[in-house]
Amino acid sequence: MPGVSGGAAGGRRRSSSSLRGRAKRARRSVEVPGAPAPPPAPHLFSDPAEIEALRGNLLAWYDRCKRDLPWRTLVRGVWVSEIMLQQTQVATVIDYYNRWMQKWPTLQALAQASLEEVNELWAGLGYYSRGKRLQEAARKVVSELAGQMPRTAEDLQKLLPGVGRYTAGAIASISYGQATGVVDGNVIRVLCRLRCIGADSSSPPVIDRLWDMANTLVDRSRPGDFNQALMELGATVCVPKAPLCGECPVKQHCRARRRVSGEGAVPDVEDCGKCVGGCPLCPPATEPWDSSLGVTNFPRKAAKKQPRVVKTATCVLERRGCHGAPEYLIVQRPNSGLLAGLWEFPSLLLAQGLQEEKQQEALADHLQAWMGWPVAAGDLQLIGEVVHIFSHIHQTYVVYSLPLDGDVTLDPASSPSRWVTEEEFHASAVSTAMKKVLGDTWAFPSFPLGSSPQPLSPSTPSSGHRLLRDGTFHVWDHRRAVLR
Ligand code: SF4
Repeated sequence: MPGVSGGAAGGRRRSSSSLRGRAKRARRSVEVPGAPAPPPAPHLFSDPAEIEALRGNLLAWYDRCKRDLPWRTLVRGVWVSEIMLQQTQVATVIDYYNRWMQKWPTLQALAQASLEEVNELWAGLGYYSRGKRLQEAARKVVSELAGQMPRTAEDLQKLLPGVGRYTAGAIASISYGQATGVVDGNVIRVLCRLRCIGADSSSPPVIDRLWDMANTLVDRSRPGDFNQALMELGATVCVPKAPLCGECPVKQHCRARRRVSGEGAVPDVEDCGKCVGGCPLCPPATEPWDSSLGVTNFPRKAAKKQPRVVKTATCVLERRGCHGAPEYLIVQRPNSGLLAGLWEFPSLLLAQGLQEEKQQEALADHLQAWMGWPVAAGDLQLIGEVVHIFSHIHQTYVVYSLPLDGDVTLDPASSPSRWVTEEEFHASAVSTAMKKVLGDTWAFPSFPLGSSPQPLSPSTPSSGHRLLRDGTFHVWDHRRAVLR
């Protein structure tokens, strides 16, 4: 039967024509002159019985199938995990979360931690400002809010650094039972499919509609579970590329699936009078429905902005430590900006299009100014290139090495710096990119003289030098390998 199903729990069915009439009447009754027009009914949840049924089906599935995650109960755990989960997969977060909670078992303990300790634990998780803000917020709760967390989404967002609308809604609903919705990437995907929303899902008008929808749908008696269920559905069933529609607990409410399976009317053409030429929530006319994509027609995003291309020269300075083991010099980045406060090998941002020879000279000058004694460009040994993609930056590190004899005294007035063993390096607050730099410095295989070495991976350069642990170098390229 065409139209909206009341679902298993509600058991009520209505014809599409009666729904359309009802929705039109509802629209007429709330329209205010000058206010933006409400979205067309096919993109809304307007039937209370259907909403009730969807809540029941989703919560029943969640109770049966929810993943066992360590942060489901503690208020502080929800907060820490929600911050860590921004832009990061659950599987990656679990280990970081457990270590974090073990190291700082109370808000007071976190408030007393140094930024250095926070960065050390956060190393490798990316988006480092998240850890910094989390700690700033802990300090604020302890020092300005008498140790009491704000309890509503509005106060959480207003009072705590690093807590945006989504995180505030998640904490307030999960920890304090506030009936407020949440919209994250998983929820966007599920809602866009449930209601055939094909306009750019990152555009403010669509995001606003999705928040309205999440607030309408959230279960009043179990808001935290409902929100987690919706996110869990997006993470495990309604996944981006191959959603498991057959196993989906809300499939009877899903208009994208109905459109694909041919059950009922095709909503965004036949039910939505505004869809032809100008519905704000339908796919744009320039990108019509593509039947080969099925339900994955939804959601849609505007084309991603191309990342900025950046090249940086970085130098692995190495000396023999007191037990003969190699030690490396690392310096601290400024306390603001990209990778704030993290440690790295001495590095220099390169001007666009600089020739290799000039890059080397610029790096030598940079090191010389910083160390206070002459560094010849010819002493810098090229190791190769390491590519690392940040969310908005395509970063290429041109890696050099410079072995040093004996001790080196650094100017204490320059950036904070220290010598570390390989083990200490990995325990320091260093980015994944720098770990790749050190890893690739040592990653090239030993080549028999005159053989033709193969690069280890696509990021491995086709030629360069390899610093050996005995202080000698392999110079290699795709034609030859020479030990000197
Ligand atoms: S039926 Fe398929 S597309 Fe629709 S919500 Fe469920 S998994 Fe997603």
